[in-house]
Amino acid sequence: MDKFVYSFNEGSKDMRSLLGGKGANLAEMTKIGLPVPFGFTITTDACKDYQEKNGLDDAIVKEVYEHLEELEQVMGKKFGDVENPLLVSVRSGAPISMPGMMDTILNLGLNDDSVKGLAARTGNERFAYDSYRRFIQMFGDVVMEIPKSKFDEVFDGQKKKVGAEYDVDLNTDDLKAIIAGYKELVKKELGREFPQDPKDQLMEAIQAVFRSWNNDRAILYRKLNNISDSLGTAVNVQSMVFGNTGETSGTGVAFTRSPVNGENRIFGEFLVNAQGEDVVAGIRTPQPIDEMKEAFPEVYAKFEDIAKILENHYKDMQDMEFTVEDNKLYMLQTRNGKRTAEAAVKVAVDMVNEGKIDKETAIMRIAPDQIDQLLHPTFDSETLKKYTAVAKGLPASPGAACGEVVFSADEAAVKNDAGKKVVLVREETSPEDLAGMVAAEGILTARGGMTSHAAVVARGMGKCCVAGCSAITVYEDEKYMEIGGVKYHEGDVISINGTDGSVYAAEIPTKAPELSGDFGTIMKWADEIRTLGVRTNADNPRDAKQAVKFGAEGIGLCRTEHMFFEDERIPKIRRMILADTEEERREALAGLLPYQKQDFKELYKALAGKPVTIRLLDPPLHEFLPKNEEDMKKLSEQFNIPMEKIQAKTIELHEFNPMLGHRGCRLAVTYPEIAEMQTEAIITAALEVKQETGIDIKPEIMVPLVGIANELKNVKKTISETAEKCFEKAGERLDYMVGTMIEIPRAALIADEIAEDAEFFSFGTNDLTQMGFGFSRDDTGKIIKEYINKGVLEEDPFQVLDQHGIGKLVKYAVEGGKKTRPNIKLGICGEHGGNPKTIDFCHRIGLNYVSCSPFRVPIARLAAAQAAIRNK
Ligand code: PEP
Ligand code: MG
Repeated sequence: MDKFVYSFNEGSKDMRSLLGGKGANLAEMTKIGLPVPFGFTITTDACKDYQEKNGLDDAIVKEVYEHLEELEQVMGKKFGDVENPLLVSVRSGAPISMPGMMDTILNLGLNDDSVKGLAARTGNERFAYDSYRRFIQMFGDVVMEIPKSKFDEVFDGQKKKVGAEYDVDLNTDDLKAIIAGYKELVKKELGREFPQDPKDQLMEAIQAVFRSWNNDRAILYRKLNNISDSLGTAVNVQSMVFGNTGETSGTGVAFTRSPVNGENRIFGEFLVNAQGEDVVAGIRTPQPIDEMKEAFPEVYAKFEDIAKILENHYKDMQDMEFTVEDNKLYMLQTRNGKRTAEAAVKVAVDMVNEGKIDKETAIMRIAPDQIDQLLHPTFDSETLKKYTAVAKGLPASPGAACGEVVFSADEAAVKNDAGKKVVLVREETSPEDLAGMVAAEGILTARGGMTSHAAVVARGMGKCCVAGCSAITVYEDEKYMEIGGVKYHEGDVISINGTDGSVYAAEIPTKAPELSGDFGTIMKWADEIRTLGVRTNADNPRDAKQAVKFGAEGIGLCRTEHMFFEDERIPKIRRMILADTEEERREALAGLLPYQKQDFKELYKALAGKPVTIRLLDPPLHEFLPKNEEDMKKLSEQFNIPMEKIQAKTIELHEFNPMLGHRGCRLAVTYPEIAEMQTEAIITAALEVKQETGIDIKPEIMVPLVGIANELKNVKKTISETAEKCFEKAGERLDYMVGTMIEIPRAALIADEIAEDAEFFSFGTNDLTQMGFGFSRDDTGKIIKEYINKGVLEEDPFQVLDQHGIGKLVKYAVEGGKKTRPNIKLGICGEHGGNPKTIDFCHRIGLNYVSCSPFRVPIARLAAAQAAIRNK
């Protein structure tokens, strides 16, 4: 028979997919003897069953009741009892942590009778009624879906009526009045009474959690994090402990090491006399955990012990929730803590050095995309000295952000779509702000601590975040904020520093990061393990040098067309395009040769002997022509060419499908003199650099857009004849290679034939995806977005290689190429070369290297190591 409910003493940490992360870890903590309030977990299978049947099956209800009875026995309390009532929390817990995405209900079991029982047991009537009113409000909001603001109206109304300034000024009678008001509100909104039977409350709550699996926030979070919709969530029902019984109680959230920088000491926050949700939701800004040490020295010592036990047990940094009830410590949750990239790297390296994990585990612990955080700019400390912060909040997620202020998630998205950089400013963030946080450069909140929603989510995304900045007053509806009497309106530019919490009313320049220390160690380990080479796509010495610093082992793609767009060169290439005869063309090209040669010399020097793949001119020629009258006039005057001719040529070169037109090797076949000039530049530059520096260079000349074997044969002949002439002239030879891009589907299909002339293949997966799908690279963004929304596509095939379709072409070409030329060199240079999932694929099909943009090189190194470990 199916089992849908597990007591905490029946499970373990290995049952995550069934019990959810929270449930599995509560069971594990119970198993190893830590103080966990008893309870049970309703499985993810029950959630799936609920979604299927659109209701709770009788068998599940029966099992819940059985476990409830057990819970009553263990706790010696009864549900709904007037004397000693059992109260529970109901929390969601999916197999993969989804912070802030799902809902929590505390104090379930309170009703008009049991509230008296709670008052009697605790000897604290006010506390009992305060718990009851919190429960009705939470239940009304989360389960009954009555807007929270309506409860606030009732609450604030009572405060106003009795002239209370703070919540704590309300006495028991006030709270009773509020409870009556809440109940009336429920009746008015839903036409039924607030449920008094705790069992009804429980069943409604369980279903609400299951429903929340499919709320918009949860769906969006899953989409952003590639979490399957089919996992489902578990529900944890746990007996309540109270952090809000008075000054001997409290609640906190702590990490075994700093999630910000990885420092090995307990890092967390604590609130005396408070319930857990107050901390997580950022409603009150808590004190640093050190203050707990002073207020509760013995409990703190015990907590430190437990933190150590948990970290050693899980062999990873833990994120823990706990409550102190009347000086007794209870653990409510533990999980592997989310952390910044900086912390991830430090914790991984430290744990290897402490002998807790091995190097491979350390490498697998770091998400390659997260590394991006370390590669992005921060404020330069010298530059920063010139500015004075106008406010200071908590350094919730490191990095630098600068942009226009916006006050809503929607506005953030709109401005971001329009290409603007924005900083999202909120009183406090809620899960609904997720899309806005994605769109923003950084997030600034007026309230909430280091473990508030904004902080947790920002760290996960690698976004800079300053939280709990109480010096700012936010007027979200009026779209401005005030700092020290100065108003900042939507559109004003500010800068925030997530590393120290500073806020600046200025646009501050940033600087590139250093890549040494622990990061260097991880990269060194990754290099020892990976078998896939990592090169870069670069067409200027600056990018090439940056990439080499990041560990690039060569250039996998130098797009020579980018070299022609500079001021002195563009007229010359225009002159070439406008030429009527071969002779005129050659004359214009001769003017470009010295520039081109100089480009290559600098590139070779920057790479200092590492391989350089140079691609012959690829784009349709009309891309170089003047786009407006003024430019045409200039050109006409400069070369004494009539305007009419320029206009006529522009019309002549117009193509309906330029991406399928006169470009790539088609240029070299029809105008061989272009390939000749480029070959001469490539070869003579290499000869000269060798003479000047002694560095041996073996240029790799790459022919783009080949789809017919004879195209490559034709262009290769031009290349080799030109090279021979260069060698003769120089009286010296060097080795060079000729290879091709595989970026037209037909080329993949006849790769065996092409390999007869190609010494290497480089997969141009941008064009291969474009032509394989028939999706224009430049125009289909919107369609793809909608396809993803509608589930037609899972991911953007221009970002993550479509292994299922386009991947087959790549694999087929690899096999074809190797059949003809077993030692053919194979690489990829489309954008996909920097994508971790695609890198895993490239490893599996046996490519020699990936080539990606400079800032993705470290990511690719790590992803390549992970691929090697994963596919051992
Ligand atoms: C490609 O098509 O994948 C490629 C690398 O070439 P480009 O992006 O320059 O067309
Ligand atoms: Mg291409």
